[in-house]
Amino acid sequence: MDLLIRGGRLLSGERADVLVEDGRIAAIGAFPAAGAREVIDATGLVVAPGFVDGHCHVWQAPLRGIGADMTLPDYLATVLGPVLGAYGPREAHTATLLGAAEALDAGVTTVLDFCNVTTTPEHTDAVLDAYATAGIRAVVAHNDPDDVPEARRMAGLSGRVTGALAILGTGPGPWADAVRQIELARRLGLLATMHAGGGPGSPLPRMHHDGLLGPHLHLVHVNQMTDSEARMLADTGTGVTVTPVVEATMGHGASPFSRFAAAGGRAGLGTDVAVNAPPGLFEPMRDTLRTHRAATGGMVPAGRVLAAATADSAQAIGLGHEVGSVTPGRRADLLLLDGLAHLSGEAELTGAIVTALTPAHVHTVLVDGRAVKRDGKLLHLDLPGLRRAGTDLARAARRSPAVALRP
Ligand SMILES: [Zn+2]
Repeated sequence: MDLLIRGGRLLSGERADVLVEDGRIAAIGAFPAAGAREVIDATGLVVAPGFVDGHCHVWQAPLRGIGADMTLPDYLATVLGPVLGAYGPREAHTATLLGAAEALDAGVTTVLDFCNVTTTPEHTDAVLDAYATAGIRAVVAHNDPDDVPEARRMAGLSGRVTGALAILGTGPGPWADAVRQIELARRLGLLATMHAGGGPGSPLPRMHHDGLLGPHLHLVHVNQMTDSEARMLADTGTGVTVTPVVEATMGHGASPFSRFAAAGGRAGLGTDVAVNAPPGLFEPMRDTLRTHRAATGGMVPAGRVLAAATADSAQAIGLGHEVGSVTPGRRADLLLLDGLAHLSGEAELTGAIVTALTPAHVHTVLVDGRAVKRDGKLLHLDLPGLRRAGTDLARAARRSPAVALRP
């Protein structure tokens, strides 16, 4: 056996060892240490699934905090305009490494990267190389769904770093373009991911009528979804990810998490842009708990929200059978969490993770059974060094004229 994680507690509160072989969870129970190539002592720690960030723009990691007061039009005109234009492949590589390092440090083991920076094949090379180096699981959603050779390249990826198509969608873009792009993704076996609003006049009913909804499609935000749209999305198994921190900060609207839940859907969580939000899913979980309790008027169990950041997020981006829970057969994307030793039982443990922990409590992070963080420190990525490189990159990118005009 490759790895034995000994003496930790599962989210159920039970003490158990976790056996990892070939990057997967092989068995959960009680096992002797003899014969294990590597043993991790998890005494006093809780073994949890890694978080799955279902929607993020990882290339923006060096720009963290520059958009605290940006509206959506400000963001589109600056960050997606001249700042993005200032990124060459080298910048894309550095920024992706920094974003991946920050995510891993916060216990995020999978990202769906809505990767605006894949503007040339060389940029895409740089992003894929950064993810190969970083050790995180990544679904890279390519920015140009009409570049068929690049789409085929994304479809050919396998293992820890896989592909998807980022599409503009049927609301902001022409209908025929979106239909063609969704059909290309479906033909290639790729997830098509798009931002969406929902609500009166939205294209969702037409998309439903035309058979475009389903698990091959992933919608982000959907803040204005009506109850009937929520049912369409839930009934068709369409992936939904909400990013409540950025949605509230930028004025997209209140989180639709509860409306979707009432329709039988299970939304995943994402961080979204980096310009006005922190890395990791602790804040999106807490935000979701508060709005869900306010919306329902009841004490929805806090631990329920942990599933949104793990299993439901994985399901929404098409990885529900691979990651998101500590179950034999799943990839060994695991966290050992500190700060929970005084608690017992599932409701207490999961509730405490949602309400009380921070990235500082993420003691150990494993992806495919390989440790990327141990004893609170990243092993292979130099986070302070990447932050310094990111500072230089952000300064240069922000010197572009349209950005300099902004206060
Ligand atoms: Zn986004």
